[in-house]
Amino acid sequence: MEYRTLGKTGLQVSALGFGGIPIQRVTEQEAIEIVHRALDKGINFFDSARGYTDSEEKLGKGLKGKRGNVILATKTMARDEKTMARDIETSLKNFQTDHIHLYQCHNVKTEADLEKIIGPHGALEALVKAQEAGKIGYIGITGHNDGILIKALEMYDFSTLQFPRNFLEDTAEKELFPLARKKEMGIIIMKPLAGGAFKRADLALRYLLGLNYSTVIPGMDTIEQVEHNSSLTVNIQPLSSTEREELLREAKILGNQFCRRCEYCKPCPQGLDIPTFFILHSYFQRYGLGDWSKERYGSIQPNVESCMDCGICETRCPYQLPIREMLKQVHGDLGR
Ligand code: SF4
Ligand code: SF4
Repeated sequence: MEYRTLGKTGLQVSALGFGGIPIQRVTEQEAIEIVHRALDKGINFFDSARGYTDSEEKLGKGLKGKRGNVILATKTMARDEKTMARDIETSLKNFQTDHIHLYQCHNVKTEADLEKIIGPHGALEALVKAQEAGKIGYIGITGHNDGILIKALEMYDFSTLQFPRNFLEDTAEKELFPLARKKEMGIIIMKPLAGGAFKRADLALRYLLGLNYSTVIPGMDTIEQVEHNSSLTVNIQPLSSTEREELLREAKILGNQFCRRCEYCKPCPQGLDIPTFFILHSYFQRYGLGDWSKERYGSIQPNVESCMDCGICETRCPYQLPIREMLKQVHGDLGR
């Protein structure tokens, strides 16, 4: 495993980090085994969030007695001081530790968010107090909107930036990443596989590993994924022109309007599992699994027919997807 410096924190992190969203889906025992295998493979950067239900707790259990050179990172949507202070305590308890290396302001997406965080009695005050008390090491920020994050970086000296970057999404390369580099911030890459959209996930990941970010953190919820992704970090090679062409062909087919499975649109008041519908639809459209997708769709309740068109999901989607329109297309193709 290659280790890289996480910007001005000076922390040494594995080029391949562990994204903590998917382990919500596996049992506690499975999560522990996955985390152990990740450690065996040299992964030392583990990222979670208060919003990822039991992810922090599962990581805490998997890492118990094996902390060594592990770098723990987590984040919360808390915007005010009181909620942030409470969330930091919860994260410490979940991770079974008295120190979290990196605590991030999660999914900062509007100027109002930013003002609350940085303003009087904002979340930042709790983060700085926790830092002074030694409960956390560094303060980072995450989000999907480069314009807002550029403002954030200009307003406060965050130590790290976590932002989506993959073969399809390179908007951050224009201004945001150059600014982060100028400020010597650690750059953490989320959504490296565009939510699993690429058939050639190995190429998509190798492409990013070759770009020298601090760490790239795909979500992993099987031992096979940990082994496969780790194998790509041995002797990182740039893509050949043929491999690049292959990814370009896929990128062209995917376009921009597709679900990255970030789950920010949840919960739907009608209980619709929105990303699952889009996953099934992608199997239908791209992998020729028509009968299988229709059968699976038919077994899910509630389905798209229960959508009451409230539009809440669309206000939460960081990619501004026209979710309602897309769901109608899913139902048109998969509904019997
Ligand atoms: S528009 Fe439909 S899918 Fe979206 S949150 Fe409302 S009910 Fe759920
Ligand atoms: S619809 Fe949008 S918010 Fe929901 S999982 Fe997909 S990309 Fe994320």
